[in-house]
This record gives sequence, C-alpha cells and structure tokens, in this order.
Amino acid sequence: MYMIEARNIYKSFGDLQVLKGISLAVKKGEVVAIIGPSGSGKSTLLRCLIHLEVIDRGSIIIEGQPMAYEDENGKTRYVPDKQIRQICKKIGMVFQNFNLFPHKTVLENIIEAPIVVNKVPKQEAVDMAEALLRRVGLIDKRDSYPSQLSGGQKQRVAIARALAMKPDIMLFDEPTSALDPELTGEVLKVMRDLAEDRMTMLVVTHEMGFAREVADRVIFMDGGEIIEEGLPGEIFCNPRSERTRSFLKQVL
Ligand code: ADP
Ligand code: MG
Repeated sequence: MYMIEARNIYKSFGDLQVLKGISLAVKKGEVVAIIGPSGSGKSTLLRCLIHLEVIDRGSIIIEGQPMAYEDENGKTRYVPDKQIRQICKKIGMVFQNFNLFPHKTVLENIIEAPIVVNKVPKQEAVDMAEALLRRVGLIDKRDSYPSQLSGGQKQRVAIARALAMKPDIMLFDEPTSALDPELTGEVLKVMRDLAEDRMTMLVVTHEMGFAREVADRVIFMDGGEIIEEGLPGEIFCNPRSERTRSFLKQVL
C-alpha cells in the first residue's frame, strides 16, 4: 500500500492546463523530492493532494483510501466532504510563506488545530506543543509572536504546527525559498531529522543538496508533466532527458 497514490491527474485554471496527467506513488517512510522550473505545476500538485485545489481528472488515494476516483464512466468524483477532511488530516503541509497566525503566539499557533480540529484537551495540546518546540529547537520562543521571529524560526514553528496534527505524511512546498541563505540550514536540519525518523515526505525544493542527500527518489517536473524520476544519483549525475539536463545546468 502506498501512502500517497496519484493517478493521471489533470488540472486547469481556465484555459491554462497546469497538470497534464501526473502519476506518482510514495511509500511509507519514503522521502521524495520534486524539482523543476518555476511554473511547472509543483505547488498545484501538492495543493491537489491536500485538497486545496480540486482536480479535473484522475484519482488520488491516501493510505489506501480514495479521495478522488474515476467512476465507471471515467468521470472523476470526490468522496463526501467529511471523508475528505478525515483523509486530509493525515497530511501536514508546510508552505513557502509560513502562514502562521500573526496575532497568536508560537504556542497558540501550534495548539489551535489540535484543540479545535482533533479535540485534544488543552493541557495535552500544550505538552505536545512544548515537546515539538524542543524538537525544532524553539522552546525559548514559546510565548513570542511570529513578527518577533526570523524567517527560519517561523518556518520551524510552521513545521511544529503541522506535526502537532500527528500527520502520517508531510508535504513541503519550497520551505526555504523565502529565507535568507544563512537561515535555510536550520530548517533543512529539522527536515533531515524528520526524514531520519522515517516520516513520509514529499518535498518541492530548490535545494539540490537536500534533494541529493536526503531524498530516496527525485522527480523532475516541467510543463505540468513528470519528465523523469529516479534515484538522486541517477537524476543528478546521469539524467536521461535533455530537459532535466538543461534545468540542472541552470541550478547547479
Ligand atoms: P510551480 O509551483 O512549479 O512554480 P505552480 O503550480 O505554482 O507552479 O503554477 C503553475 C501554473 O499555474 C503557473 O502558470 C501559475 O501561474 C498557474 N496557477 C497556479 N495557481 C493558479 C490559480 N489559482 N489560478 C490561475 N493560475 C494559477
Ligand atoms: Mg511553487
């Protein structure tokens, strides 16, 4: 069984076809990096997997549970909303721009969803949040507001907040690309630790070092399609496609 299975996903915005038949499958504990030029549909793909966008065609199966499927006439249908919410609770997502609540403290940011969505008792949520803040090295920022944090600290809080929902899968959408270069390391370190703990991760990234060293598999996307995928060593040292080669030449 795969943790994430997407088959033949199509997505358009108006006349613009952004995903053109994407299929991917991620196993438990696997770290998959998605690389590719800006505008190739990477964010849209992640957003479809967590139901922030509705797909036009294809199917999405999370931990064996269909979220979107093709019926006998080939028409794509979604399961009922309640089931979608249940399925998406298994997936945490970290965005490029942190998306923290600015008027809440670090601790309040982390305990909000566990209390409201998962009905975790407050003290239990606080204990868990504190443990997560220790894990990302920010327990001393417990009562700070997001505006008092650096970008790297904000992103580490965002990761802790996602983990507080106890996801089985974590999606990262260029988590370090809004950061000053000297702050990317602390965020990548947290992600490496997560990978070592065998979290299932799908990571859109421009950090080729991270993709090469941490990912089990690398997917190269361009123009709404998966152009090639393989082991990091294969993709980076011996890409099959000319498009992959010219992309890597620009970024490496
Ligand atoms: P990437 O993350 O690889 O840079 P995106 O998935 O963000 O690519 O975007 C792919 C294409 O889809 C881009 O041309 C972008 O402008 C377009 N796009 C993304 N989201 C929307 C939207 N909500 N409405 C219209 N166009 C969109
Ligand atoms: Mg993007």
